[in-house]
Amino acid sequence: MANPSILILPGDGIGPEVMAEVRKIIDWFGAKRGLNFDVSEDLIGGAAYDAHGVPLTDEALAKAQAVDAVLLGAVGGPKYDNLDFALKPERGLLRIRKEMDLFSNLRPAQCFDALADFSSLKRDVVAGLDIMIVRELTSGVYFGEPRGIFTEGNERVGINTQRYTESEIARVARSAFELAKRRNNKVCSMEKANVMESGILWREVVQKVHDEEYPEVELSHMYADAGAMQLCRWPKQFDVIVTDNLFGDILSDCAAMLTGSLGMLPSASLGAPMANGRPKALYEPVHGSAPDIAGQGKANPIACILSFAMALRYSFDQGTEADRLEGAIEAVLASGLRTADLMGPEGGKPVSTSEMGDAVVKA
Ligand code: ATP
Ligand code: MG
Repeated sequence: MANPSILILPGDGIGPEVMAEVRKIIDWFGAKRGLNFDVSEDLIGGAAYDAHGVPLTDEALAKAQAVDAVLLGAVGGPKYDNLDFALKPERGLLRIRKEMDLFSNLRPAQCFDALADFSSLKRDVVAGLDIMIVRELTSGVYFGEPRGIFTEGNERVGINTQRYTESEIARVARSAFELAKRRNNKVCSMEKANVMESGILWREVVQKVHDEEYPEVELSHMYADAGAMQLCRWPKQFDVIVTDNLFGDILSDCAAMLTGSLGMLPSASLGAPMANGRPKALYEPVHGSAPDIAGQGKANPIACILSFAMALRYSFDQGTEADRLEGAIEAVLASGLRTADLMGPEGGKPVSTSEMGDAVVKA
């Protein structure tokens, strides 16, 4: 059987720096675990603009559509600030997400024990935390029509429309239930069915998908404002949270910051199932290209490495190997190694990007 395939799009700024560490991990899995991948690489963002005059070529997009998983670094940088809107690095990222129709955005909030004191919350609230927010990514109030700034009488009015079809809700709900089956069989759906029509439909459709297709998963519903409060009060009550585009944007940032640095946060964006039954998928760290630290060996590669761990779990059915990788990261952090972003008051042994990657490989 052919090896599973990965397309790497390192992008700009610290993207290539953190991706170089992921390459070491991929090589290790090939050499030590017999887990070989066909890895190809292409350009996106400013790097693609410099080479080809566009932030994403049709060829690179076609490759992304054909592989089992895409790993992306980050795009953008001050060098490209004055480009036309359509040529900006970020357009490359938006285009690939849109063309691959990645409607389900997974953002874990996972607290490594060694970093539990890094959170703004008390240690016992966050230690061992491992939850997943599933955010609908391609519809809702960010896309609904009508939208715009219009004139009404003698003043202007800004309009956005929250709009969800049943099928849009059902597919992201399925994505959350599938995830729950691989985790702890527990989903909490968040909307505001008390004040929004789209929320009423959301609750109804999620419940229907549950009852007809996933009755074995424990499902609860919560208003998103109450959910935000509970997330800050006692986040360990949750496992998988599924919510719409806008609430997901806010709740996932909130959940992420329970756990510490931007340099620690991975993400996955999933689309419809491919012929092999696995979803189309793009994995990337939550952080951006961090131009302020690019080229200095300061970037924390863990967010990008954890994104690869998500790929192992959700695209390659290698949950045990994903656990192994996360365990190595936990061990490295427990031994006190810290990139600059993780250096708190309690100190630690300062390491560079590549030293951190090497330590994870060794562990
Ligand atoms: P974007 O618009 O692409 O999201 P941004 O400016 O909002 O970019 P980042 O590029 O992620 O955000 O940078 C925000 C801050 O976090 C910067 O000071 C950056 O140096 C820091 N940062 C981001 N990623 C990392 C990382 N992997 N390691 C260390 N510091 C990081
Ligand atoms: Mg940002």
